[in-house]
Amino acid sequence: MAETDTGVYDAIKMKLPHPLRGLVDLAYNYWWSWNRRATKLWEYMDPEHWREYKNPVKLLLDLPEDRLLELLRDDNFMNLYELVMDQFERYMKPESTWFSTNYPKWDKPIVYLCMEYGISRSLPIYSGGLGILAGDHVKTASDLGLPFIAVGLLYKHGYFRQEIDAEGRQREVFPEYRPEEMPIKPVLNREGKKLLMEIPIEGRIVYARAFEVNVGRIKLYLLDTDVPENQDDDRTICDHLYNAEMDKRIKQEILLGIGGMRLLRAMGVEPSVVHLNEGHPAFANLQRIVWYMEGGLTFTEALSIVRGTTVFTTHTPVPAGHDRFPVGEVKRRLARFLEGQDEKLMELGREKDQINMTLLAIRTSSYVNGVSRLHAEVSKRMWKDLWPDVPISEIPIEGITNGVHTMTWVHNEMRKLFDRYIGKVWREHTNIEGIWYAVERIPDGELWEAHLEAKRRFLELLRRKAIERNKRLGIEDPIPAVDENALIIGFARRFATYKRATLLLTNLERLKKILNDPDRPVYIVFGGKAHPRDEAGKEFLRRVYEVSQMPEFRGKIFVMENYDMGSARLMVAGVDVWLNNPRRPMEASGTSGMKAGLNGVLNVSIYDGWWVEGYNGKNGWVIGDESTEPEIEADDVNDAESLYTLLEREVVPTYYDNRERWIYMMKESIKSVAPRFSTHRMVKEYMDKFYSKAMSNHIWLTRENYRGAKDIAAWKDRVTASWGGVVIESVDVEDRSGLEATVYLDGLNPEDVKLELYCGVYKGGYGIETPHVIELRHPEKLENGRWLYHYRGNALKHLGDPCWSCSLRIYPHHEKLPHRFLLGLIKWRDLKG
Ligand SMILES: *Cc1c(COP(=O)(O)O)cnc(C)c1O
Repeated sequence: MAETDTGVYDAIKMKLPHPLRGLVDLAYNYWWSWNRRATKLWEYMDPEHWREYKNPVKLLLDLPEDRLLELLRDDNFMNLYELVMDQFERYMKPESTWFSTNYPKWDKPIVYLCMEYGISRSLPIYSGGLGILAGDHVKTASDLGLPFIAVGLLYKHGYFRQEIDAEGRQREVFPEYRPEEMPIKPVLNREGKKLLMEIPIEGRIVYARAFEVNVGRIKLYLLDTDVPENQDDDRTICDHLYNAEMDKRIKQEILLGIGGMRLLRAMGVEPSVVHLNEGHPAFANLQRIVWYMEGGLTFTEALSIVRGTTVFTTHTPVPAGHDRFPVGEVKRRLARFLEGQDEKLMELGREKDQINMTLLAIRTSSYVNGVSRLHAEVSKRMWKDLWPDVPISEIPIEGITNGVHTMTWVHNEMRKLFDRYIGKVWREHTNIEGIWYAVERIPDGELWEAHLEAKRRFLELLRRKAIERNKRLGIEDPIPAVDENALIIGFARRFATYKRATLLLTNLERLKKILNDPDRPVYIVFGGKAHPRDEAGKEFLRRVYEVSQMPEFRGKIFVMENYDMGSARLMVAGVDVWLNNPRRPMEASGTSGMKAGLNGVLNVSIYDGWWVEGYNGKNGWVIGDESTEPEIEADDVNDAESLYTLLEREVVPTYYDNRERWIYMMKESIKSVAPRFSTHRMVKEYMDKFYSKAMSNHIWLTRENYRGAKDIAAWKDRVTASWGGVVIESVDVEDRSGLEATVYLDGLNPEDVKLELYCGVYKGGYGIETPHVIELRHPEKLENGRWLYHYRGNALKHLGDPCWSCSLRIYPHHEKLPHRFLLGLIKWRDLKG
């Protein structure tokens, strides 16, 4: 590609006949990917090309000029084109949006950083759930009108394409993507030259360029280091997503975090809120702290601003899923960047002799969440040591349950039914539950026919993929046909061992009986990639494949290659049952089940992740207990038993003998899943619970030359310095009807602290379950820094009862602290009867 221009974009524009020039902007905006009509437009131009690449830029580049002239004379095409362009323009310039209506005063951007984004099959910079969630988040931020900027990395080889050989072994193929064929544009500086960021790594400067991707109204910027200014080794930093080599991985995270912030600065963007999606981009906060310090603020002042304006989402309860690097390795690569600030900055991420990216993120943010209610509980326990003596229930990690971008994941057939029977309101007001009751109006026959059509489309894909594979491997066998009227179970996800893909294969005799009843045949389709270094995961895949080739399972169990967004879209709507059997609580949320549920595909799942909230007794089934206790390996046996029994007694009989009940359950599934597990609900929740507060903090902290930051930092320093001396010296309980407590504040004022009575029924190891918390106010001043607090009331009347527990607690308080345990300081004193 030429060094200095937007050459491809201009070249395409020049190539297009004048009336069709609008196509170029449409091609460079992924808005088309969730707009059926726009997708049809591309498909119309060259169906085969479209099916192969799903890439409008490549399509326009490759399309012969004759074909363009032909289209110009084609009324059908021109009508479609006008409609699409009209819709596109209206989308891009709305009169109002959810954001502009609800938050009219804000315009500073929310910056979102993530290692991967699943926007579309044609932008292969995602590996699985995390990326797809990020992609859905960006699309929804666009729909809702948020001032939002996303930053990620561009990987030359993307994630791998999976091939499965004749023995069932995964082969990873790394196609090389050409940026100039992708719907991305280089970011230019004011002189119209390619913008180059300078990022200090080790003793040198590494250069990075950036590309811009339009996702509706949102810009997604992707960085990469493959520029001639770099030495060879640095040019390959972004070759692969999730490079297993530690060196590359640290450098990628430096590039994303520090490079990402530098890109924004180079473009003149000052973020008001930064959302770290997973720990990978947490170095961004080091860069922000360093900049504030260069601007003259102290470390504590800088950290206060960064903390007050950062949102952090953690995504995994699997300990190995959190990046940890030896401190020395990080220091060496950040040497030039840290310059004398090593100790304070490194301390923020330190966990013994490692830098833990999750800890770094938590310690530099105030708004932390897990991705489902259960995952928040698990995360609180995982990181409780950061808040010693704070009750688990009050640890400031919230649950904001994931969702899916409805317009991306709804099947075309279902979309048409929703439009007809609900009206188009569901597209914009997706998360409003009442709207979805109208699903009941869909006649059973029509719903079933739409579902069958979705199954046919998926089975075509399955067949096409099998034919391709046979051709590649030189296999001559005919591809067995799948009866679209039969019960089809789908299982597709990453082949990580905790997801237990082989659970269903525990007892092959029993499985054989379930699948091979001639009156009630059952098929299973497996799909998913194992991480290239995950040998155990690959072995699971091989085993599934091996079983699928056994004579009794041939034509009944299928393994589909290269599960990606393209195949997922057809699969989540084109089976009857979506199976999910992870070892609890490893599935932090899971989103594929939401995609399935939205399309009327019934979930059969372990009670884990989102399903704890999603299951309502009539929209699918639970494998094993409705419990949230963690499972161990020994539980596999029981779960397998439960799964077989469920299939034998409930799923198969309902499907074959009670179709009416099945369709009722499909409707229940759509109604309950579509609104609540949409990213419309999720992004609004992030906005209302986190972003809005972080935005207010930003205004307060930075106004009048950072007065807020200086005030709160001074307060923190003062409180932290005195805290060691603060003590609840004595408590006098009067007749179980009141008390007096003498508290030594060591120079602090009563406004600097909160003293609370904390009482309730004592539940063994978990402490008090639902405590009564009563604040004691207006103390009397005694001598020598002592204060006398009074309480009169009912809370003490059970004192002495061994089931009742009562304590006094004291912790620092400032009304501008984002949450009360931000400093992690608290002291307790138990009351005796
Ligand atoms: C939705 C999706 C995922 C994530 O699904 P989980 O249920 O979280 O495992 C992974 N890969 C693809 C291609 C998807 O579409």
